[in-house]
Amino acid sequence: MSIIHILPEAVANKIAAGEVVERPASIVKELMENSLDAGADRIEVSVEAGGKRLVRVEDNGCGMSHDDALLAFERHATSKIRSAEDLFDVATLGFRGEALPSIAAVSRLVLQTRHASEPAGTRVEIVGGKLRDVSELGWPSGTSVEVRDLFFNTPARRKFLKAESTELSHVASLVTHYALAHPEKSFRLASLSNEIVNVSPVPDSRQRIYQLMGGQLLDQLIEMTPVERRMAVYSAPGAPDDDETPSEAVIVRLWGFISRPEVQKLNRNSIYFFVNRRLVRDRLILHAITEAYRNVLPPSVFPVALIFLELPPAEVDVNVHPSKTEVRFRHSGFIHDFARDAIRQRLMTSRPVAAFPLPKAAQQRSAIEGDEAEVAEALAEEPPLLRGAEERSLEPFPSGEHGPASAWRSPAAPTEATGFRLSAPRPAPRPGVLALGESEPIFRDPAGAPVASPPGGAVPRLEEAGASEFPMDLKPLGQVEDSFIVATNAEGLWIVDQHVAHERVLFERHQRLRREKKVEGQRLLLPVIVELKPEQQATLGEIAEELSANGFDVEPFGQRTVAIKTAPADIAPQDVQRLLLEILDELGPEMRAISLEVLRNKISASVACHAAIKVNMPLDRNRMEWLLRELARTECPMACPHGRPIVLRYGLKDIRKAFRRT
Ligand code: ADP
Ligand code: MG
Repeated sequence: MSIIHILPEAVANKIAAGEVVERPASIVKELMENSLDAGADRIEVSVEAGGKRLVRVEDNGCGMSHDDALLAFERHATSKIRSAEDLFDVATLGFRGEALPSIAAVSRLVLQTRHASEPAGTRVEIVGGKLRDVSELGWPSGTSVEVRDLFFNTPARRKFLKAESTELSHVASLVTHYALAHPEKSFRLASLSNEIVNVSPVPDSRQRIYQLMGGQLLDQLIEMTPVERRMAVYSAPGAPDDDETPSEAVIVRLWGFISRPEVQKLNRNSIYFFVNRRLVRDRLILHAITEAYRNVLPPSVFPVALIFLELPPAEVDVNVHPSKTEVRFRHSGFIHDFARDAIRQRLMTSRPVAAFPLPKAAQQRSAIEGDEAEVAEALAEEPPLLRGAEERSLEPFPSGEHGPASAWRSPAAPTEATGFRLSAPRPAPRPGVLALGESEPIFRDPAGAPVASPPGGAVPRLEEAGASEFPMDLKPLGQVEDSFIVATNAEGLWIVDQHVAHERVLFERHQRLRREKKVEGQRLLLPVIVELKPEQQATLGEIAEELSANGFDVEPFGQRTVAIKTAPADIAPQDVQRLLLEILDELGPEMRAISLEVLRNKISASVACHAAIKVNMPLDRNRMEWLLRELARTECPMACPHGRPIVLRYGLKDIRKAFRRT
């Protein structure tokens, strides 16, 4: 007797729905991708109850004929690929032909659509996967898909849905990111009570970021203009990477926005990555970004990044997971190194921190009410559809703090609560104008009231000019408060934080010596006896070897105590104990999760910090000149190993403007 049977189609669809439809945001994702594939340039999303009661996506795309409108709900029915070979060259967002039948299996769905070639439109109604009604309909053009009562027939899955505000935030994040990837199209997202996104077409991503998130975030970002690289490829997909004779070359292009070193996030949630405009979570690129920021950001913090990668579709396999949020590159090594180098290059040549005060706008943002507040709060959670992918592919990382607001806060702008998520809706800028209004400094009149421009003067604005390297020709003029070196060159006026500048110099030197195994220890006249807590002792045991390679000689002394006999050469004896404890404490709980590389960085950063010139220390001209020169020679003169800015600059143009000498 045979006990195996083929599952009925309805059951198969419900199973597929388990992979494709996790929550309302997954429906929005699939429907928006269909709209984009249909060539729409206007997409409107409406939701009720966070999408649990209703998700509707309307577009002005090509629409479907009567027959196609019915076929679309068959399993594996797609207009986008024809053969298995096509799978290696997918240029559309969809291709699996699974979304519509999967969604229809677990909801009450109404499709209304018309193809330009047909006089009348078609309405199809499906309830829980069963066709209820097909009728003709007067319909202008394009397509509307209405999905009600998600999981009404699978109550067990319905229970997994989160609060309405949480689901809404996931939907909002998704719409926001597709809007970011397509600045030339309009997007709207509305709930019953609110319009959450409404953006009209703009010429570039920069203006789209401004529309969606405002000028304050833009100020924290460095724009990467497109970087192109030729990549040798092999005509047959699957040909080995190490084949010596490439048959052709293709162009790989990368552009986007990355954050300045002083912007630090406690998790990876503000890193967004698009491959051929498809939002994906990709371990390889995350790694490339982390590498690019190495020694610019401390090891366990993350930048904000919005990276677009474009390459021929045949070079990426998008058929890795049903929700299509993971990809595989044919030449992953090349892509990784290209992304890392392009980002690092841009980071290294970015301007120093702008000299004018950072915006206060966030503090003044009007109180957020009702729905919006909930959205803003919920938005600080993990991004929706990508979470699964990330959990699968990334090692756990200790992030200290996962608090919603804190994840989006940066030290440079403590009140900023947005990242690449939506904040409360804000007024749209004047069309075509990239107003940086929010980033203007706040001036006060003699009575102390805020005014729009400096008393009697023009507003100095931040230039958005190209990159500039840290100059070799700075002349020190003196110090402010014995802490900040004031210097000048033809570009303008520079202020350098002497402690972090020296820290950067020492950090890079220590790293170099460590690589060459030449770190020198200095024997202490009297050993320093340090009492250790048990966890400190455990950490010490684990890193003993690395410590000795960094110039330490630490020996057991008593049951709980150790004797430091030798310490890195630049460290003053009175700092030795604190340095060791700092290293042990910083490493403590996360010891097992970090790589040797990270460990070395942490030790170098701590040594550099303790050995560096302090603030409130007078420096003579020679020492100032020496420091500026050494700083200019470092790989990353703009940020200290902990990501703090080292240099401020008042550009000559700004100075002239402020004195009305333009
Ligand atoms: P896939 O997108 O993988 O092809 P779907 O189940 O999402 O599978 O959609 C099935 C087909 O229905 C698509 O291939 C497309 O031809 C058609 N379709 C779906 N949504 C739209 C839309 N908004 N506009 C025009 N055609 C659509
Ligand atoms: Mg689709």
